[in-house]
Amino acid sequence: TREKVSVIGLGAMGSVLAHLLVKEKQEVTVWNRTAAKAEQLVKEGAKYTGDIHAAVSASSLVIICVLDYAVTNEIFGEVDVQGKTIIQLSTGTPQDAREMAAMMKSRGALYLDGAILATPSQMGQPSTPIFFSGSQTAFERSEAVLKILAGMLLYVGEAPGAAAAWDLAALSSMFGMMFGFFHGVRIIESEGLDVAALGNMIADISPVLGQMVKSTADDIQQAHYTSPQSSLEICALSFELMMRQAAEGNIKAPFPVFALGLFNKARAAGYGDERLAAMMKVLR
Ligand code: NDP
Repeated sequence: TREKVSVIGLGAMGSVLAHLLVKEKQEVTVWNRTAAKAEQLVKEGAKYTGDIHAAVSASSLVIICVLDYAVTNEIFGEVDVQGKTIIQLSTGTPQDAREMAAMMKSRGALYLDGAILATPSQMGQPSTPIFFSGSQTAFERSEAVLKILAGMLLYVGEAPGAAAAWDLAALSSMFGMMFGFFHGVRIIESEGLDVAALGNMIADISPVLGQMVKSTADDIQQAHYTSPQSSLEICALSFELMMRQAAEGNIKAPFPVFALGLFNKARAAGYGDERLAAMMKVLR
């Protein structure tokens, strides 16, 4: 079915969202502070307006993807959103989302907060995730249109802040691994080995890494810290090896220093012979 959709914000992400909607024959109206970014989309069949009021009134479904929530507030200062379904896809904190939800609701709109866990080029693919939270009615009404943007729509509840929390938690998990990987690259480089091959190997063992995260999450949830298969002390020792390799290979090691600092706190608290999940007791 052909729906009217307005897309507010045509940066790297917003322009791809609008492009996908136009390609799937939706009736798309776009708005962007810098008009030039709409030119290509207009050629493809989108309507452009430089008037935010006109852009919002053109469609019952309004998708926002600008820099952040502060910019969204600036843009929506006086705009009438009564009866609209507003979907915020800019990245923010749970508190940002709660405030936006309260503001949009007070003006008579249905509000859905979304968080995209992908790059622009990954949009439109079946395995691309977007988290959503807030109005379930808004989610159900817009699901068919949202499916055009990403295949994996993860509705995580009515609490408006939930999607942002999931997104930041997923980003933390991903970048935590990335920083570990960056140090791994320095180890490989210091031995004159192949960085691309390291990337391939990590990709190949990613189900094993995922399994470790999953079982650690279960341990945390159940406060199950005792009788480990590999103790926290054994994990800490691998970071001592990394420190020694860094000295021998003459490379900087901020990541192992950071991790070993936490391991030493856990050791000092007497968690050495517990499960790795016991690290949570230090972090809390
Ligand atoms: P860009 O920097 O490419 O685009 C930023 C957008 O915000 C532009 O449309 C820009 O307008 C607009 N903007 C910035 N400041 C103002 C302002 N003061 N008034 C009006 N408009 C303003 O960012 P992206 O498109 O990459 O990202 C947009 C959102 O999507 C962000 O929240 C980002 O976190 C999120 N996101 C991005 C991902 C990515 O990989 N790119 C991945 C997942 C989420 P103008 O064109 O006029 O400058």
